[in-house]
Amino acid sequence: MPERPSEIDVVANLRAVRAEIEHGAALAGRDPRSIELLAVAKGHRAERIRPALAAGHRAFGENRVQEAAAKWPALREAYPGLRLHLIGPLQTNKARDAVALFDAIETLDRPHLAAILAREMDRLGRRPELFVEVNIAGEPQKAGIAPAEAPAFVAQCREEWKLPVVGLMCIPPEGDDPAPHFLSLAALAASLGLRRLSMGMSGDFKKAIAAGATEVRVGTAIFGPRAARDAVNAASS
Ligand SMILES: *Cc1c(COP(=O)(O)O)cnc(C)c1O
Repeated sequence: MPERPSEIDVVANLRAVRAEIEHGAALAGRDPRSIELLAVAKGHRAERIRPALAAGHRAFGENRVQEAAAKWPALREAYPGLRLHLIGPLQTNKARDAVALFDAIETLDRPHLAAILAREMDRLGRRPELFVEVNIAGEPQKAGIAPAEAPAFVAQCREEWKLPVVGLMCIPPEGDDPAPHFLSLAALAASLGLRRLSMGMSGDFKKAIAAGATEVRVGTAIFGPRAARDAVNAASS
């Protein structure tokens, strides 16, 4: 039976997810501190997020620039040390707001967006970390750079636009075993000299940790279910 919102204990859920991360890290012979838990707060109001902040959690993911801009400036003031990642698609007309608001943008997926982000970073004097989103299984409808094009794109981001690209991000196809996709993203990142890997969600973050994830993006397992419009990779508003 689905839990009612009032029954969701965000702090207990966070603790349980952390324990799973530690277990996954131990199995993989990794230091759990090398794995950042991004609590994905899309579709949830500030009241649901505050208990996590009060318990000391500081790393969060959001899908939509507008939704994040409405929720996070006040929370940031109340809880210093926040790290906010954009994990949803970014339209170029929201690039300035995204650069102003986020500490990392994980959905850099096309040259035009890279050029606009470079311009807005110069204008605002703020340089959020960037992850290149890779369409790891070459799905026709999905955002992301094709794996074969990733080396040239990453090189262009570094050389032409001097962008702070730190890693790769992917969302494996629904229904597939994600493990081989995580491993191929890890191999691609290693070949490009990129150390950070954003992969793994509520259902598969332990497999992602086994493959080398440095950021896992966990929403439902922490904050409970959300409305249908906030499904994974929903279009940005
Ligand atoms: C919503 C979302 C998540 C979190 O998904 P859960 O299954 O709720 O953990 C992770 N990554 C991306 C890109 C998302 O859109």
